[in-house]
Amino acid sequence: MDKYYRQGHGNVHRASHSFARLATNAFESARKSIAQFIGAESQNIIWTSGSTQACNILARGLAQQLNQGDEIWISELEHHSNLVPWQQLAQQQKAKLRAIPILENGDLNLAYFRENLSDKCKIVAVSQVSNAIGSIQPVPEISRLAHQVGAKVVVDGAQAVAHLSVDVQRLGCDYYYFSGHKLYGPTGIGVLYGTESALELLEPSNFGGEMISKVAIEQSQWNSLPYRLEAGTPNIVGAIGLAAAIEFLSQFPSQQRLQHERDLLAYALRKLQQHPAVELVGQPMMRTGLIAFNLRGIHPQDAATLFDQYNVAVRCGHHCAMPLGNKLSPQGSIRLSLGLYNDQQDIDQALEAIDKIMELFD
Ligand code: PLP
Repeated sequence: MDKYYRQGHGNVHRASHSFARLATNAFESARKSIAQFIGAESQNIIWTSGSTQACNILARGLAQQLNQGDEIWISELEHHSNLVPWQQLAQQQKAKLRAIPILENGDLNLAYFRENLSDKCKIVAVSQVSNAIGSIQPVPEISRLAHQVGAKVVVDGAQAVAHLSVDVQRLGCDYYYFSGHKLYGPTGIGVLYGTESALELLEPSNFGGEMISKVAIEQSQWNSLPYRLEAGTPNIVGAIGLAAAIEFLSQFPSQQRLQHERDLLAYALRKLQQHPAVELVGQPMMRTGLIAFNLRGIHPQDAATLFDQYNVAVRCGHHCAMPLGNKLSPQGSIRLSLGLYNDQQDIDQALEAIDKIMELFD
């Protein structure tokens, strides 16, 4: 990012001076890195400002596919950004928004989905990993069921992309999106992947330069993909930063990276389960390195403030997934999230912090 600003700070896809050439090369080579990282081709990668914008592009772009009485399915554990855009779309098109319920442990009730899914359903939008309880959703099976009734499958990969080895082909989805800052990249940049036919279905919802091929006063023609969905000057430096983050991640073989997280998760879960003050929130069958819990008798906000004083950074609250929170723990929860840089000492430090917090409240 520093090199771009110092040596090649030009705009992309237009001027013929060398700064512009450098910028275009770096930007398009970033697109290629991202595509490779998730098992896709460059022309299937659309730059966005993040997951939220990606979902909004989808919800607006698919509006014409939806008629009165059609259904959009999400799940009860979605982040608000994979819920509110669909809610808006459903209201606008007089369609019905339905949710796959969760079981007591936080897993999706797939049997309910199987029994209630019909050809009224046009879109199924689920997260691959829950950002609130860390559960891994059975996306290949959800894709298979959705495709049987002719629906398009959208996968919110924001919480998954740094914690699993993502291959969009294996997932069988039509669209997949994530944010750069979730995999050690900069904020303000994100990615929307789509198969060629799925991207072709999307009506652009942002208009202006870059997304056009011809413009006359009366009418304009749209550019080819992926540019048709990228109006205006893109976040060039963000794309370059995201490619650098992927390069950083890729220096660790993915099996080693995932094993490190699984080992830490097993250690942290064992320690937390053994602690008398800890109440786990959600006990999914399959999860990545993320644990939601509460400390007996202590509000999660108070606990999180004290964790910070012991140099342990945890998130607390409803984790932008209120329907899930209301079902599993209406007062909210504390979330311990593991990253590539964490080790057992960090878990021990978190456990020591819990003991100190409990002493304070004794
Ligand atoms: N989806 C999930 C699962 C998330 O965890 C997040 C962010 O926390 C989002 C979507 C929204 O991402 P952003 O705020 O980068 O658009």
